[in-house]
Amino acid sequence: MQSVFAEAFPELSIAWTGDEPTDPRIVILNDKYAEQLGLDPDTLREEQGLRLLTGASAPEGARPVAQAYAGHQFGTYSPRLGDGRAMLLGEVTANDGSLRDIHLKGSGRTPFARGAADGKAVLGPMLREYLVSEAMNALGIPTTRALAVTETGEEVFRDLPRPGAVLARGASSHLRVGTFQYAAQSLGNTDLVKRLVDVARDRHVPKDDDDEDGEQNPALDLYEHVIEVQAELIAQWMAVGFVHGVMNTDNMTISGETIDYGPCAFMDAYSASTVFSSIDAQGRYRYGNQPGIAEWNLARFGETLLPVIDEDPNEGIRKATEALQSFAPLYEAAWIQAMARKLGLTETATDEQTARDVSQELLRLMEGSSLDFTSTFRALADAVRDREAAQELRDRVEDPRFDAWFVRWQALGPDPDLMDSVNPIYVPRNHLVEEALEAAYDGDLDPFLKLLDVVTDPYTWKPGHEAYAEPAPADQGKYVTYC
Ligand code: AMP
Ligand code: MG
Ligand code: MG
Repeated sequence: MQSVFAEAFPELSIAWTGDEPTDPRIVILNDKYAEQLGLDPDTLREEQGLRLLTGASAPEGARPVAQAYAGHQFGTYSPRLGDGRAMLLGEVTANDGSLRDIHLKGSGRTPFARGAADGKAVLGPMLREYLVSEAMNALGIPTTRALAVTETGEEVFRDLPRPGAVLARGASSHLRVGTFQYAAQSLGNTDLVKRLVDVARDRHVPKDDDDEDGEQNPALDLYEHVIEVQAELIAQWMAVGFVHGVMNTDNMTISGETIDYGPCAFMDAYSASTVFSSIDAQGRYRYGNQPGIAEWNLARFGETLLPVIDEDPNEGIRKATEALQSFAPLYEAAWIQAMARKLGLTETATDEQTARDVSQELLRLMEGSSLDFTSTFRALADAVRDREAAQELRDRVEDPRFDAWFVRWQALGPDPDLMDSVNPIYVPRNHLVEEALEAAYDGDLDPFLKLLDVVTDPYTWKPGHEAYAEPAPADQGKYVTYC
């Protein structure tokens, strides 16, 4: 294992070792992903592997560190956050030649932990991150990956005494908007920001994307790139009904990968105001706000780059503002492209304005009739293929405007096979996730493994798994997530 970050950024690193686990046991190991990372799953299951997966021992050649970062949390700047209960073991060169971070969460209290925070993590939330990140990956959405969840043998107190656990994950890096904020605002170190720009470009900006305008401005190129990948990422979240829940700037990556799955969830009934998190009373991070929040976070990112973009402050602001103005149209374009595909509309057959009208009208109807977001798109594809299914769907939706919408949409010639290739049958629905985590606490991992199985192969019908494709029973009440 390498220590690329630790060596490049001593100002952002505290050498670290995880707590000694009392009785470690692997709950789940992602064999396939381990192999992609060039790690041997069998070795990881041995004693030395368990010590690595909990952070108790450094792997050969590595210099594990807790990483410093800052961030706006719910709009308020915290100058020093950092890995309070996490650590970067180091980087590996994966089989595809790319550099991947191996990161642990729940490995013990670090100097970045605040107040009474214990530096620990418990089984349920670590399994939730495992499940949801692997589901996102299977949906083709950029994300950190889950490598393993290991129980430490220790009891950790939350609402109840819970089994302590450590999540090991992979990522194309852990550079966050908050990393740049820490360097620029908390340390006021422009040289450090420059070095972050160089490393971030090296790791995340495809070489042929560099300097496409011929202008030698690495910071501006990086900024433009991050705006692009984030616009694309958020459009993809929206297209699957994903609500991240805590889009603080420390939870936004430079790579464009989804990171830090806490109180996240997938919507059942469509509503733009959907919010799940117990800590988001104002609904700042509600479903419909995610594009606007991403843009706000990217403005904070741009601020960290200003002195590096141009020595002349006015010029820096002008260039950064111009770049940021591309977010809205990029997001719009990515969103309409995703929605058009969900509705089986090809670019050659349907113009963009029509695709937008049809998509927005459908969402209004779905919101008014509280239609299930995920299954409605599959039901629509079935309705294209089969008259009876169409009638059944039209009968089910009571709003008379749905009939008119359906007729208009059908006249556009939607392709049901295209629809089925992009609309998942199975997403990690909240009630199923909760059931699986409760069972795991009771020592039964079966429901978790079954759910993991369907959500990591989300487009294929599995006989006998109908319940996994359905929303929560109507009497279940409002779902709340905790982190
Ligand atoms: P998160 O909400 O997971 O993105 O974390 C926000 C910040 O709180 C990060 O600095 C975390 O390291 C820190 N943090 C969260 N939970 C704990 C904990 N149990 N102990 C120490 N630090 C924590
Ligand atoms: Mg450029
Ligand atoms: Mg975080």
